[in-house]
Amino acid sequence: MNTTPMNGENNGSEHTSSSNVRGRRKVLIIGAGKCSVGSTGLALAQGLKKAGIPFLIFEKDETPVRERNWSMGLHWGFEPLQYLMPTEILTQVEQAQVDPHVPTKDSDRLPLINGETGALITEIKSSKFYRLRRDKFRAMLLQGLDVQWGKSLSEIVYSPAGERVTAKFTDGSEVIGSMLIATDGPHSMTRSLLVGEKAARVTPIDFASTMCFTQHTREHALFLRVQPHHPLYQVAPHPNGYCAWLSLHDGDDIEHPENWTFFHYISFPEPRDYVNMRTMREQVAHQKELARQFVDPWRSVFEWMPEDSKVWYSKLRNWDPSLPEHKWNNRQGRVTLAGDAAHPMTFQRGQGLNHAIKDAYTACKAIESFWNQGDFTIEQRAVAIQTYEEEMIARTGEEVRLSEENSVKVHNWDDLMQSPTIIKGMKVEDQNVR
Ligand SMILES: Cc1cc2nc3c(=O)[nH]c(=O)nc-3n(C[C@H](O)[C@H](O)[C@H](O)COP(=O)(O)OP(=O)(O)OC[C@H]3O[C@@H](n4cnc5c(N)ncnc54)[C@H](O)[C@@H]3O)c2cc1C
Repeated sequence: MNTTPMNGENNGSEHTSSSNVRGRRKVLIIGAGKCSVGSTGLALAQGLKKAGIPFLIFEKDETPVRERNWSMGLHWGFEPLQYLMPTEILTQVEQAQVDPHVPTKDSDRLPLINGETGALITEIKSSKFYRLRRDKFRAMLLQGLDVQWGKSLSEIVYSPAGERVTAKFTDGSEVIGSMLIATDGPHSMTRSLLVGEKAARVTPIDFASTMCFTQHTREHALFLRVQPHHPLYQVAPHPNGYCAWLSLHDGDDIEHPENWTFFHYISFPEPRDYVNMRTMREQVAHQKELARQFVDPWRSVFEWMPEDSKVWYSKLRNWDPSLPEHKWNNRQGRVTLAGDAAHPMTFQRGQGLNHAIKDAYTACKAIESFWNQGDFTIEQRAVAIQTYEEEMIARTGEEVRLSEENSVKVHNWDDLMQSPTIIKGMKVEDQNVR
């Protein structure tokens, strides 16, 4: 067991008689990403690096290996990302898309299609819409960062004088910092440490989904790309109370459609306390059965899916940071949450990543506001992080509720046209990115 403090970058003793934080330590970021996960921590690290603020970033996985992977729409979150990233990395965003050969047009929008008839219902209002593959986006954000892999946070200790925080890891190592930002995802260990295990638990809602990734023959793959609406992505609510998705997941090999991968699911009603005991084959069979009610391309993509495909079940769930019972003590600005650690939300509104990037932007600005002025006081840090949390919790609490409302309404045909995504689009008002 290694109990040696890591890095020890500054040996200045902690000053206890005034609130001036002498001997500043680094910012500790927990959660860097495995396959393409960890976008929040990596984006924040890029922002701190650009601002010249020292940090260390830790990830519980041993290496940046691929495990679960999916694609995500980046739209209004691109603006805060611009602030965080160096230009030479930001310009790679088109290469991080599911198909780097299809340039993203300003006019690209997500088509919403009637899953029963194939008729276009509407195109979802949004800003420029990038469809990113998570592993490629993560590789893009990882550039120039030195992640400490295999470091799983298990405990946080606060110095009595209010200056420092110690992160302890399951391998027995520990590191001291001036503050810790946890970006450790929807089942955040840090969230449990801050509010208790019970209050930290995500809340399931009455819907679930099965994520499918498939490859097809050349002929079938080409068919799946020539649908009338958009060659990369489309979403299809169905009058019977389902919602289907189909997008290209990996179109890197332009010459060989048989090497392309497609990402598709049909989400369905399921009581929130239902315990999923289906085998993988049963889940595939269930998706195939639902798809028979759909028009092409969903009907075919599921029909062509092999029965022994590897799929994963996903219960829709969230955690609203604005609930009184979810309030945490940030210990004079020494510990806080960002990204899915602070606000896991249902995915049909395509907002989690965009808010995560905005969190990274707001947190970075908050740290800049006190860090680069020379020595800072405990009060300056406390005020800056309090301000960060107030904005983040109000913005994302509302989004958690809107996303849940949206997930419910896209599965209820009578309410579909009143769903937040159709009414408001994917935009978030007043982004205030300067
Ligand atoms: C199917 C699907 C589609 C989606 N589509 C969209 C979309 O279109 N648009 C959008 O904006 N959002 C979308 N999202 C949401 C988006 O993927 C997430 O909001 C985003 O990836 C969250 O990133 P994160 O960095 O906060 O968390 P994560 O990606 O979960 O990263 C957390 C990291 O912390 C690490 N970690 C965990 N515990 C510890 C520990 N104790 N110590 C150290 N490290 C730890 C984990 O290994 C992980 O690497 C979608 C989500 C799903 C599931």
